[in-house]
Amino acid sequence: MKKSVLRDYAKLIVRTGVNVQKGQTVLVHAGLDQPEFVQMVVEEAYRAKAKEVIVEWSYQPLTKTHVRYKSLKTMSTVYEWEKARLEHYCQVLPARIHLVSSDPDGLKGVNMAKVSKANQATYPILKPYRDRRENKEQWCIAAVPGVAWAKKVFPGLPKGKAVEKLWESILAASRVTEDPIQAWDDHNADLAKRCAYLNNLNIRSLHYTAANGTDLTVGMIEEGRWCGGGDTSLQGIYFNPNIPTEECFISPRKGLAEGIVHSTMPLSYRGQLIDKFWLRFEGGKAVEVGAEVGEEQLKDMVSMDEGAAYLGECALVPQASPICESGILYYNTLFDENASCHLALGSGYADTIKDFQNRTMDECHEMGLNESMIHVDFMIGCDTMNIDATCADGSVVRIFENGNWAF
Ligand code: ZN
Ligand code: ZN
Repeated sequence: MKKSVLRDYAKLIVRTGVNVQKGQTVLVHAGLDQPEFVQMVVEEAYRAKAKEVIVEWSYQPLTKTHVRYKSLKTMSTVYEWEKARLEHYCQVLPARIHLVSSDPDGLKGVNMAKVSKANQATYPILKPYRDRRENKEQWCIAAVPGVAWAKKVFPGLPKGKAVEKLWESILAASRVTEDPIQAWDDHNADLAKRCAYLNNLNIRSLHYTAANGTDLTVGMIEEGRWCGGGDTSLQGIYFNPNIPTEECFISPRKGLAEGIVHSTMPLSYRGQLIDKFWLRFEGGKAVEVGAEVGEEQLKDMVSMDEGAAYLGECALVPQASPICESGILYYNTLFDENASCHLALGSGYADTIKDFQNRTMDECHEMGLNESMIHVDFMIGCDTMNIDATCADGSVVRIFENGNWAF
């Protein structure tokens, strides 16, 4: 890939993505796949006047080795020095950049039960730190190709060609055009307009139907609001959490979901594939699930904790989005969730509640925001999907028809 194009992309992530502020600390999480690009991002962050840029590298085979040899007790331990680091980041509020590149099958064979148990043990310790940073810091997830990922997406191509092709696909999906920053300004304006329309409807519930048998009604939080595109942190800094993004989304009300929903794309969950699955909801809870591939993983997922069987997100993405139209299956949620309407099991987003700045997390949960250690998106959109909104005044408005915006 041409260096000048990659430079534009690095700049997009730093400026439009996290919007690095003068004197701010920047934290970059990256795999070992594209070190030269990581260096570009770091340099662009310094050019945007970052005070310091810290890079945290990860390597999937190493993760596997740790899980294999560390005891569950050690994996479940959070040391004092780690708490001190988390405390430091709560004070400093760095801008976080996540560059994803990992192999969708990279954790195959890992003892997931052990990982789940360790996560369950550390979650209550880590959560208060996360809650304190929530909505205060800017963050951005973007992607770079790894070899194994590229081979998974383009199995017919030799390694070098597959990586190049994945670069092209990532950059096209991320609107890295002649002037990416302008393209993102325009895109954000469009998403903001759609969210405003949806918010005006004052939607009480959504009814999803599709030819595959999906027939699901999901209730909304009264004070809920649709979000999409860029976001503003509580420090007042505008940033884009996801590059790319195509969705308008909201957190539904816990306890209000009835009916059945069928997946329309495979789901890569913790390095393992779940495919051709369905969930039946009663009283908001997934009471029955089934899958042709990965049924055990799916069952494991919905029983991670109490909230894992409830919904945390309803997102609208037209089939006419660039990612859907590319026809590429990325095996990565950042892209695949932007190809299709989706739901998420697990945690909801507090910032989809009006005036969340002045509410505590507990208040948000009382209003019906779901809470869980997981948040897993799964795709349900297709060409035959219709969505009808029942509004507060009793009217029913079709907002999606045959997989695309009806307004
Ligand atoms: Zn989403
Ligand atoms: Zn989500």
